[in-house]
Amino acid sequence: MAGVQLKNLEKVYGGTLKAVHGINLDITDGEFMVLVGPSGCAKSTTLRMVAGLEEITAGEIIIGDRRVNDLPPGKRSIAMVFQNYALYPHMKVRGNLAFGLKIAGCSRPEIDAAIADVARMLEIEPLLDRLPKQLSGGQAQRVALGRALIKKPGVFLFDEPLSNLDAKLRASMRVRITDLHRQLKAEGLSSTVIYVTHDQTEAMTMGDRICVMQAGRIMQAATPKELYNHPANLFVAGFIGSPEMNLVDGALEGGDFIVGSQKIAIGSDLERRLSEKPSDAIIGIRPQHFSLAGSEGPGLSARLANAEFMGHEVYLHTELEGRKLVCVVGAGEFEALGRSDIVRLRPDPTKLHVFNKIDGRNVSLRGGSIAA
Ligand code: ADP
Ligand code: MG
Repeated sequence: MAGVQLKNLEKVYGGTLKAVHGINLDITDGEFMVLVGPSGCAKSTTLRMVAGLEEITAGEIIIGDRRVNDLPPGKRSIAMVFQNYALYPHMKVRGNLAFGLKIAGCSRPEIDAAIADVARMLEIEPLLDRLPKQLSGGQAQRVALGRALIKKPGVFLFDEPLSNLDAKLRASMRVRITDLHRQLKAEGLSSTVIYVTHDQTEAMTMGDRICVMQAGRIMQAATPKELYNHPANLFVAGFIGSPEMNLVDGALEGGDFIVGSQKIAIGSDLERRLSEKPSDAIIGIRPQHFSLAGSEGPGLSARLANAEFMGHEVYLHTELEGRKLVCVVGAGEFEALGRSDIVRLRPDPTKLHVFNKIDGRNVSLRGGSIAA
């Protein structure tokens, strides 16, 4: 059993720079937890404190049932995979894989069997007698993964492991890592993962749960679906989802959504879903939640600045009363529009979010007819 608990965890660098502000997070045994957030939000600092590579300023870290605050990295039952692979350059792949087990005093036959095992899992058998400099980025990262796997740790810690790979390789490594995680779990091996990335696509596709961080604080920790459908605040709303959610200054009044001099009826359902009625509201609309309205009927008129053709979808970059709005519409729907500089946009009222402008909280309640 190796869940990980962070309790009021704090990190202050150099006596003054507070990087982590007392965070609490409970990662269950076998869970794939992603820490995501922009550069500098203290993802690595948090991970390195779990690994024992960075001293803890205050709070507690529990791995399994042990408080590990004062344990050296080697005693924490963790294995870490870094962005730059961190392979020993003078050792062949085989030696890199064997290293940890040799230190731990395993016998030659045990080590050979373990190497054969992970080499098969990661399809690196043909690489065993190469030096790291003879490997491509993707191969080197698979070896680094193998070096973590072979230790059979309670917890895997990943710090942006795919950031040095090209887009295509990143996509295939995502699947490889989550497959491995499932496989370990199915075999009853402890397989808790804490995975750090700045990439929301990685977070969304890989995590059982995602912890969104900003400036050393946790903004929301939830499943990918929950974060997407019910972002707790403006930060999470803007960070999760692609293209980004549109966040529009506007007002809700008598069943109308008012933007500048335009308004569109959205019904009273949304207003009933508000936990409070902010005087200053920001309305969140995902680009996918617009449809194109005909010239008749309700719609907001926006100026079309640019259309990006993506295949079966088109990303429309528009301007509405001085606000920029991005909409994703079907290619067929876009073609049917003909050539026009003005598009009429209809937001799906059941999918709107309302945020309090002062503190950024999402004040639109779940339930009602909002997408589940
Ligand atoms: P992330 O991994 O999310 O990009 P980091 O954990 O690397 O963020 O950094 C969080 C904050 O702590 C940043 O402001 C960074 O400058 C600071 N920081 C990180 N490492 C050190 C260090 N060794 N000494 C001083 N400040 C640091
Ligand atoms: Mg980092």
